[in-house]
Formats: sequence, structure tokens, C-alpha cells
Amino acid sequence: MNLFELKKITGEHKVSERMPLMFIGHGNPMNAIENNRFSTSWKEVGAKLPRPQAILSVSAHWLTRGTRVLAVEHPRTIHDFGGFPQELFAQQYPAPGAPEFAKETQRLSTQQHIVLDDEWGFDHGTWSVLVQMFPKADIPVYQLSIDYSKPMSYHFALAQQLRTLRDKGVLVIGSGNIVHNLHAVNFQSNAKPYDWALEFDSTIKQWIEKGDHQSILNFQRLGALALQAHPTYDHFLPLMYVLGFYHSGENPTFFNDDFDMSSVSMRSMIYHT
Ligand code: ZN
Repeated sequence: MNLFELKKITGEHKVSERMPLMFIGHGNPMNAIENNRFSTSWKEVGAKLPRPQAILSVSAHWLTRGTRVLAVEHPRTIHDFGGFPQELFAQQYPAPGAPEFAKETQRLSTQQHIVLDDEWGFDHGTWSVLVQMFPKADIPVYQLSIDYSKPMSYHFALAQQLRTLRDKGVLVIGSGNIVHNLHAVNFQSNAKPYDWALEFDSTIKQWIEKGDHQSILNFQRLGALALQAHPTYDHFLPLMYVLGFYHSGENPTFFNDDFDMSSVSMRSMIYHT
């Protein structure tokens, strides 16, 4: 009997087993309270996941200068949007924080300095998804910010240094969108995705399947197509973290591979070991 089998029988594997890795296309904040095809998938995936020790979210909605990690015991729920119904503003996600994992995250990053943060909370890139995936809010959650002044390679390299968190029971979720152009959204029901949106989405999907992360890091080489898909990079950057947390040999399973409002790709994926 090898060590892995032994741990399986004794139940110890729950602590030592490597956690899956996820990218979630979060889209419209209303997905937090609506029962639609996207939020239904989040619920189903959440119910099937092994229970993590903690969840680390890298959200498109925490952009900073310098990299920060949320290190408070009881993070607040941030309603960082406007023009939505009161029901959405009333939502709370009262999961505990994970300050010990935050300190461990800071310690693991030997090449870049990460600042412990006691001001941020859970932004909607985090809680709008987790409220559907883990509605009990009983798993500790923390966030890593995105230094918006840094190149793609910085984010990828930083996440690579943090990969062992997954072996310590941390479920890593990058929360953004593979295509995100709010200038081009189409509010008509059943609106079809734009050709350029489909092209960018399928190009990234193919690179993910091939494990061609360098091409994804250099996505600006797609020129006008890249600019259409991402007039700003905030919603694409969480993917760079997911690629950095990836271990070779892992395979992606895609879900929610569809568009919302013609210009927002909801494509999500989970990497299993
Ligand atoms: Zn967003």
C-alpha cells in the first residue's frame, strides 16, 4: 500500500490532497441572486468539489498598486456596483477570512513583496460566485489583489511561487471573464455573440487545451482582436493567476461555455489533478 492509499483510508487525504484550480467567468452581478444557466452550473460544481481548508479568490475587481492579500478575520461584503435592485445590495457573504493563509501566501512569495491588507473585503467578483457555489459561507475565504501596473508575466510568475497553497487545501479561483467588453453589450434577450468575441474565446480555449500559456500571456499580439475582447485588462488578468497556479499534466474541463449580452464570455474551467 502506498502512502496515498493509506491517507485515503485514514481520511488524511482531505488535508494533503491537491485542490482543484478554477477560472470562473462571473459576468453580471445579478448572477448572485438569479437562478439562471450560469448560476445553476456554479451551484452544481460547488456541490461536487472536495471541501477546501480555505478559498483564495483572485478577482477582477480588486486592482491595486503593489500586490495585497486580504488578512482580516471577518471580511465585509463589498457592493461594488451601481444601478442594481435593492435585493442585490442586501446580499451578504459572511464567510470567515483566512489571515493565517494570507500570511503563508505572503511568506511563499519570495520574489515579490505582498502587503497584508486589512481594508478590503469580498468584492462581487468573489462573493457573487461563492454565494452560489458555497451558499453556507462556512469555508474561510481570502483574496489576492491584482497590481494593475504590472505586465502579464508578473502575475503569472507571482502565482507560480504560490502553487504549494493548493497542496495545503486551498482552492484557488480566478474570477474574471475570457471576453469582457462592456462598451459592446447587447441587452436584447437571446442576443448572439459577436464574431470577434467567439474568435477570441475559442483562440484562448485552444491555447488552454494545448497548455500554450506563453501565447496567452502574449495575447496582445492578437492586435485589434485583443483590444475588442479586452478594452481594459482587468477581467483577463485573473486567468494569468490560474495559469501560474497550474501544475503540468492537469487537464481543463470547461463549463458555462456561452456568452452573456453578446460581448461577455462566461466560459469557466476547472483543472483537476
Ligand atoms: Zn466583473
